[in-house]
Amino acid sequence: MLSVVYDGASLRLAERPKPVPGRGEARVRTTLVGICNTDLEILRGYAAFSGILGHEFVGMVERAEDPALVGRRVVGEINVPCGECEMCLRGRREHCVRRQVLGIRGRDGALAEYLCLPERNLHLVPGSVQDDAAVFVEPLAAACKILEQVHIRPDSRVVVLGDGKLGLLVAQVLALTGACLSVIGRHPDKLAILSSRGIATRLEDPDRYPSADVVVECTGRPEGYHAALRIVRPGGTLVLKSTYHGHVQADLSRVVVDEISIVGSRCGPFAAALRVLELGLVDVVPLITARYRLADALAALEHAARPGVLKILVQP
Ligand SMILES: [Zn+2]
Ligand SMILES: [Zn+2]
Repeated sequence: MLSVVYDGASLRLAERPKPVPGRGEARVRTTLVGICNTDLEILRGYAAFSGILGHEFVGMVERAEDPALVGRRVVGEINVPCGECEMCLRGRREHCVRRQVLGIRGRDGALAEYLCLPERNLHLVPGSVQDDAAVFVEPLAAACKILEQVHIRPDSRVVVLGDGKLGLLVAQVLALTGACLSVIGRHPDKLAILSSRGIATRLEDPDRYPSADVVVECTGRPEGYHAALRIVRPGGTLVLKSTYHGHVQADLSRVVVDEISIVGSRCGPFAAALRVLELGLVDVVPLITARYRLADALAALEHAARPGVLKILVQP
């Protein structure tokens, strides 16, 4: 099968054997794959991954132990826990110390014609949710995760920093709380996607930062952390969503003196994200910038890395 393979140094298209599902696993024929910033960070050295890239997908189950799954349209949770370590036994399977992560850690990913995942990772996609929307479930679930972690009150002032793919999803999810939300970005065209949905936006102006109870950092840039620390009020909460290759230098005294809570936030609930899409509560389709065939996936990744580009999709 045609696959996009990163060997730790270079990226290429390669023919790989069709993967054989392990015990309890299903083989999924991918129909649409999203390119994520994490994929681009991997190409810069993040997570020291090598193998088939990609983790945001929708596909059809081609082979499974559970016959009811065969032929069904699915999305899949990306963490594959060992089931035996202390974190797994405590029920924190997404924090399994020996976990594999689809296309990120120890497991071949979705930028290929087929992938394998445990059947329990798979979620059926409701008929009313098109592939173009379903392919956003993984990042949308990551946006929903914030609501599991932080209590956003009806009168909370919330700022989302960053108008990239994740920022636009996070903003739409947090808007559902009815809190006083504004989004700070650098791209009028991207912010317009939110303002057309009634979400308050502003262009970044380092001389005029607002103050907020909760700041969600989605810029994907180390500087975003500094801006977020300037915006969060004393006693407030800073939610960190960006993963980047490299380190951030920061004034942590501000965190101590102003008793700021810092919350790291990663993968979230797929079922909730699917429901949000089914109910039409968020609109993901305006986030699609372009689509490529799998054979042109290298051009797709190059396109995704250009500044100002939102979601690039790849069709196997
Ligand atoms: Zn991702
Ligand atoms: Zn484990």
